[in-house]
Amino acid sequence: MRATLDFLLHDWLEVDALTRRPRFADHSRETFAAVLDTCERIAREQFAPANRIADQQEPRLDGERVWLPESTRAALAAYAGSGMLAAAQDAAIGGLQLPCVVEMAGNALFHQASIALSAYALLTVGNANLLMAHGTPRQREVFARAEFSGRWFGTMCLSEPQAGSSLGDITTRALPDGDDFESDPLGPRYRLRGNKMWISGGEHELGENIVHLVLAKIIDADGHVVPGTKGISLFVVPRLLVDADGALTGERNDVVVAGLNHKLGYRGTINTLLNFGEGRHQPRGAAGAIGYRVGAAGEGLRCMFHLMNEARIGVGLGAAALGMAGYEASLAYARTRLQGRAIGPAGKDPAQPQVPILRHADVRRMLLAQKAYAEGGLALTLYCARLVDEQRSGDERAARDAALLLELLTPVAKSWPSQWCLEANSLAIQVLGGYGYTRDFPVEQYWRDNRLNMIHEGTHGIQAIDLLGRKLRQDEGAGLRALAARVQRTRRSAAAQPALAAAARQLGSAWQLLESATRAAWLDAEPEAALANATPYLQAFGHVVLAWLWLDLAACSGAAEGSAHVGRLAAMRYFYAYELPKIDAWLLPVAARESVCRELPDDAF
Ligand SMILES: Cc1cc2nc3c(=O)[nH]c(=O)nc-3n(C[C@H](O)[C@H](O)[C@H](O)COP(=O)(O)OP(=O)(O)OC[C@H]3O[C@@H](n4cnc5c(N)ncnc54)[C@H](O)[C@@H]3O)c2cc1C
Repeated sequence: MRATLDFLLHDWLEVDALTRRPRFADHSRETFAAVLDTCERIAREQFAPANRIADQQEPRLDGERVWLPESTRAALAAYAGSGMLAAAQDAAIGGLQLPCVVEMAGNALFHQASIALSAYALLTVGNANLLMAHGTPRQREVFARAEFSGRWFGTMCLSEPQAGSSLGDITTRALPDGDDFESDPLGPRYRLRGNKMWISGGEHELGENIVHLVLAKIIDADGHVVPGTKGISLFVVPRLLVDADGALTGERNDVVVAGLNHKLGYRGTINTLLNFGEGRHQPRGAAGAIGYRVGAAGEGLRCMFHLMNEARIGVGLGAAALGMAGYEASLAYARTRLQGRAIGPAGKDPAQPQVPILRHADVRRMLLAQKAYAEGGLALTLYCARLVDEQRSGDERAARDAALLLELLTPVAKSWPSQWCLEANSLAIQVLGGYGYTRDFPVEQYWRDNRLNMIHEGTHGIQAIDLLGRKLRQDEGAGLRALAARVQRTRRSAAAQPALAAAARQLGSAWQLLESATRAAWLDAEPEAALANATPYLQAFGHVVLAWLWLDLAACSGAAEGSAHVGRLAAMRYFYAYELPKIDAWLLPVAARESVCRELPDDAF
């Protein structure tokens, strides 16, 4: 994967140009390479061996304490030691001040080695980043700094047993804690009560403390809450209480683990049901979990979205890295597994020696599909990470353009790799035949781990509704226009290369089809009719985006030579021959506003 990352970063995304910007002036191609070397080494030496152990030795709850394998702790300590927790932070606070795209490329190496272990680090970084953006200076100093150093870990507590996709219906409540609640140095102080479901990293002893970021609704003086998402606020709830300087007071907060979820995949990431404020502990002499408000009341979901957009790109990146892991494992297997004979002009000759299965066209199809999905997924997510850098450090026009595109592409970056790199993992199992289905090989775990990515951080269906219902219509379609301009630019440059001209034309037709289906979906401006087919629309949209990116990669690779270049062109050709034509089938029901799914009476199912 490293060679692919190097091509994407340097040849395609031109990250070296970022070092001319003041924020990254202390960096160079060499420092970027040194970071990736370190990530690659720790991933290989610590994460990869711990990955299978964490899968087989699931977290256990022993009363109030949980048990995790020692190798998980050691791997995460090595991650913290690498400085990657503070990769994007200012050097002044001990960060590496890396571009987001290089940070994500480094993390892809960890995801490939162990997605489940990486999750602890990503949650912690996401949590701390949110506090840096929306917390008070003291919240940043006390909580975020301890997380960037690896001393404390972080979670995000949104979901509840009865509220997953529909966060407006959460029932966790917050009450001001005493008359002086607004004068606490750590932020306005509340008591929280409620249950949070599915909380990754919710309980463990990997660090000294856990910083929970919790969504809850504030009860007003009349005992009411604001209905819907507008009523949601955000709180930082430490597992162990701390004083104003961040020193542990020795007092346990009233948040306890009520149970563990035993899952298909990501088994190394502990997943918990947390009870807040049930009274098992009595911090400061009373029941109720103590939480400090972050940001203004009612702004909780907006603040949380700060974490979620990057987290969504991170989910897509993880899915793509798992796709790469399966591709590499099944390719290595296909090179050595002998089975069957080549088909010559006279058919098969049993007198001939057996051939490696890599020689069979159908196995090559499965490998090329994996390559197209996984490398395409990496390209998409790193492209989005590069847009994050443009948004943060580009000039005003470039930053605005990047922001528009990022809004539009985020649901695609989350969902496309989650769907197609899962399919890649399924194909990896198929390449290994019966062996792929056993635990003697890693590919079944990749598939199990990857299956989560279509669910968390907003399900596939929710991403589809976000794209068709919101993102496309934002700023009167400015995001789609920005994307159209980039697609057009790529088509122009590809059309000038004879080997790519046909694909450039095919992409033009696909884009027109997508545009006309988009218009048709919203013909009578009825959300119910349009959104009933949001998922096939998302899939078609994603495939058009990937077709654009594959053409762009091929055009960029244009003058190169060697097997990597030949492989890239073949993956592009594969995508245009086997994948892009699928959009016709997906867009038909969208354009026709097919109503069978939404209109079928419940009792007819
Ligand atoms: C392993 C794991 C780890 C997780 N980690 C965390 C975590 O750390 N923190 C956290 O807060 N949460 C976490 N989650 C929760 C995750 O974000 C939710 O599972 C997800 O948001 C979906 O919620 P749900 O499971 O309640 O499903 P539901 O919301 O009940 O959805 C069920 C199905 O209905 C569909 N659906 C729901 N509403 C609509 C609608 N309006 N229109 C169309 N379709 C709809 C969904 O797409 C889905 O297919 C985790 C989940 C898992 C499985």
